[in-house]
Amino acid sequence: MGQPALRPLDDALHEMLTTLSPLTESLALPIEQALGRVLAEPVISPMDVPPFDNSAMDGYALRSADLAAGTTLLLQGRALAGHPLGCEGAYGSTCEAGHCVRIMTGAALPEGADCVIMQEEAQADGNRVTFTTTPQPGQHVRRRGEDIPRGSEVLAAGTRLTARELPLLASLGIASVRVLRRPKVALLSTGDELKAVGTPLAHGEIYDSNRYGVRAMLERLNVEILDLGIIPDDPEQLRAAFEHAQREADALITSGGVSVGEADYTKQLLEELGEIGFWKLAIKPGKPFAFGRLAHTWFFGLPGNPVSAMVTFDQLVRPALARLAGERYRAPLRLTAITADALKKAPGRLDFQRGILESTPDGLVVRSTGSQDSGVFSSLSRANCYIVLECERGRVAAGESVTVEPFGSLLQ
Ligand code: AMP
Ligand code: MG
Repeated sequence: MGQPALRPLDDALHEMLTTLSPLTESLALPIEQALGRVLAEPVISPMDVPPFDNSAMDGYALRSADLAAGTTLLLQGRALAGHPLGCEGAYGSTCEAGHCVRIMTGAALPEGADCVIMQEEAQADGNRVTFTTTPQPGQHVRRRGEDIPRGSEVLAAGTRLTARELPLLASLGIASVRVLRRPKVALLSTGDELKAVGTPLAHGEIYDSNRYGVRAMLERLNVEILDLGIIPDDPEQLRAAFEHAQREADALITSGGVSVGEADYTKQLLEELGEIGFWKLAIKPGKPFAFGRLAHTWFFGLPGNPVSAMVTFDQLVRPALARLAGERYRAPLRLTAITADALKKAPGRLDFQRGILESTPDGLVVRSTGSQDSGVFSSLSRANCYIVLECERGRVAAGESVTVEPFGSLLQ
């Protein structure tokens, strides 16, 4: 029997990302509840930031032209953050010619003044202040709107809101945002040998670990989770679970039962309920992988081997679910490091070996976590990065350069 060609990862990813379309339903949420949500529409600034010209230093505000004539000015009053010149009722709100105003960082620049001289370059004696420098107009002044002009787009639709975006929204006075509905994702493990934790194992049985890994990654992706548990290798029970997922979820993720010989139930069922592509991917670990669609539900079939399940989820399902959630695709960060260990590798597949990346005085150095068998979970639990070895590459000697991909948010 001829082997079907192995499909390159980029190819599979491209097909998934072009097939999937993002959810469109949206809702308004207060920003306190919007962490991890994806913006349904761009955010346009309703105001200038900063909202008024203000001082970037503690010092004196004045008219720069006044210092050409002499170096001593009369102190007119003061401006503090939240308390502009004139708010105390004295001397009006304009900095008069020949005068200066004591000003603190963040305070509104008084009208008339066009620069700030820092206090280290000034000497006060009663109500006379002597300056030791000649300022440039605009010096130490933060201009109104210089950070964000009113009407400009500050965040694009498809941005996932994190600690970087939320304070920005707050600085614009935006109390609520329109975000996309979260995808609802069903998951299940298949296999007669699988037992849930908390129950004793009979001979030949193992604990279901994949569901815990997949669940943890789904939680990080901020999706709604429908856990359908462990389904035995039984066509009727599998059908019932798939129909349940189809009624309630936007996507179904299974693990196990997609390798040759055992795939039959899953495959038959999927062919009957929807459209499915079973792929043999040119990656290691994780050769067997399925992607397709039930009537209303996207389907992702992960391999059963625990490390393969985690790696294919991270490399393929994460970007696919991010797209479903409406997020813009971002390729993972990849770096170059020197491997401290020799690495076993056969040409033909893209390897995602598990490594420990460290900064050293000589640059980035990566070590292998040992056995790279796809059933050996410790290779993943001790790692902090993938060592990504190109498809055509063979054995790697210690000291060679390799590409590394630090674990992203799902595996951190
Ligand atoms: P399969 O893809 O069903 O042929 O499974 C491949 C290997 O992964 C077998 O050794 C299974 O026992 C194991 N496996 C499958 N599902 C799980 C799971 N949920 N947790 C742990 N190991 C699993
Ligand atoms: Mg199985």
